[in-house]
Amino acid sequence: MKLNAQNYPQNYFRYPLDSLPNLVSPFGGLRDNHFHSGIDLRTNGREGLPVYAAADGYITRIKIQRNGYGKAVYIEHANGFSTVYGHLQKYNGPLANWIHQYQYINKTFEFDKIFIKPFLFVKKGEIIGYSGNSGGSTGPHLHYEIRDIRTEKILNPALFGLVPKDTIAPVILKLFVYKFVTEGLLLKNEIAVSAKSCYKTDSMWVLKDMLLLSPETYGFGLETYDYIHNAWDEKGIYEISYYNNSALKFKHCLNQFAFDESKYINAHIDYPYYRIQKTRVQKCFVDDGNMFSTYTTDAQKGRFNASLQDNHMGEVIFVVKDFNQNSFKLKANYRIVSANLDQEKIAYDGKNRNKPMLIPGKAQQINAEGIKIKLDPKSLYDTVFYKLEINAPQKEMLSNEFEFHTPNTPVHAAFDIAIQAMHIPVSLHSKLLLGYSNGKSDNIRSAGGNYENGWVKGKGASFGNYSIVLDTIAPSIKWMDYKNEYDANDTLRWDFEVKDNFSGISSYKGFLNGNWILLDYDPKNQQITYRFDEVYQAVLAKYAADQTEGMLKSMDLLIILEDQKGNVREKHFEIPVW
Ligand SMILES: [Zn+2]
Repeated sequence: MKLNAQNYPQNYFRYPLDSLPNLVSPFGGLRDNHFHSGIDLRTNGREGLPVYAAADGYITRIKIQRNGYGKAVYIEHANGFSTVYGHLQKYNGPLANWIHQYQYINKTFEFDKIFIKPFLFVKKGEIIGYSGNSGGSTGPHLHYEIRDIRTEKILNPALFGLVPKDTIAPVILKLFVYKFVTEGLLLKNEIAVSAKSCYKTDSMWVLKDMLLLSPETYGFGLETYDYIHNAWDEKGIYEISYYNNSALKFKHCLNQFAFDESKYINAHIDYPYYRIQKTRVQKCFVDDGNMFSTYTTDAQKGRFNASLQDNHMGEVIFVVKDFNQNSFKLKANYRIVSANLDQEKIAYDGKNRNKPMLIPGKAQQINAEGIKIKLDPKSLYDTVFYKLEINAPQKEMLSNEFEFHTPNTPVHAAFDIAIQAMHIPVSLHSKLLLGYSNGKSDNIRSAGGNYENGWVKGKGASFGNYSIVLDTIAPSIKWMDYKNEYDANDTLRWDFEVKDNFSGISSYKGFLNGNWILLDYDPKNQQITYRFDEVYQAVLAKYAADQTEGMLKSMDLLIILEDQKGNVREKHFEIPVW
């Protein structure tokens, strides 16, 4: 089925905020390790704006997590689609009551509840919650998604008519020319697209200089951005296509994708260039291990094999479009020149000839002294000539440091990694884990893992430096300015600052005079909050009932924090009752 707006109900879903649609960030925006899977709606720097159900439907899922979408709710609609609302400050009505009860019954703040049977009916326009900044959000906004219930793919809300007015065309700022060499990609040329380098016709920009290509294989990439009125961040682009002599070589179109394929962003962009230059170049060819479902390509997956061209001259055309069909076209004329002009490529190819190789699509094992690594078939996007070097331990390391390839090469599915633990007292085994750094030893962070039969085993999400390290230090807790805080909704609350030095906080529990209380954990602000609820009221009522005069009374608040390595902090706070 061809995807276009005709296949989707228009005006079925309303915008979930009161205000006119105002995007902070569009669908498919380019981000670290993912494409933006929804639209972010502006809330003018504020929390607490009412969030409305986009259409009639049933609540099918409630997910509350410390990161990710924070406080989120999923609604299923009769037309085969569901809508998702993320980073909420709080929920509303019967939904809020149900969640509060569920959290107390299960003694947990975070949970992911999927309802098999229709749970709670909501009407279009009913307030389901209030916008916030919970989870991994870095500023108040509402994250909104539409999903296809059958395929579970996330759809571009613009297909449903939820698209702001936009008359600004995208632009191509630079054309990148790559050559395929033995190791992978060699960036040959960055060509700025400007009034100086191009002349302009009615329909397109044309590079004045001809591209000179030797009879080898090339790939192209674009630095390209779309502009929407008032949107300021990653400016992903709806559609990129590239033609060779009017035959389509490559097309990428962001109508829909599955949540779990979003990490292909790291193969979609020139990843090493991004790590070094902080600019995302979108490649117009597809790596062998890149299974992102948005592409249409020719048999060469967009690669340009100059030795197969019938003519020595030709043209390549790049077209970028936004959803409203505003477009920008760039043409480059090329000429194929005689072979072997490229000394740089020859030198580059020779450099890695003797290095061991890993290829995408295969489970592969590497065993060296003190280390075992097992790659998942989905770990790699492309063939890798890797290095594995052993360095002496530094600072707090309890093993050698193993430098496994380079963080400039992206990893898709994490690989298994085990480092041999030697001469470490048994009493410390439960506190061992893997440390990771991207080369700077002052920047070691936890890669998790556990001790098992003489090895510390964990998962590697990136290439880089791995070693065994130790975490014996419990998290810390501090009451932020010892007073009752009012939050935006005039609910009294207590705020605590919580920190962990290395492995991270795994659990947090609070008890008021022995009664479990609901704590809201927000790791980005290193904060735990208790909002006064029925438990506080009940405890207070007991004191009021106790008429004994002249005795100093206090409540006992106990907070217990535990990190990933089982280091526990228990702290009592004595709170005077007046
Ligand atoms: Zn978002």
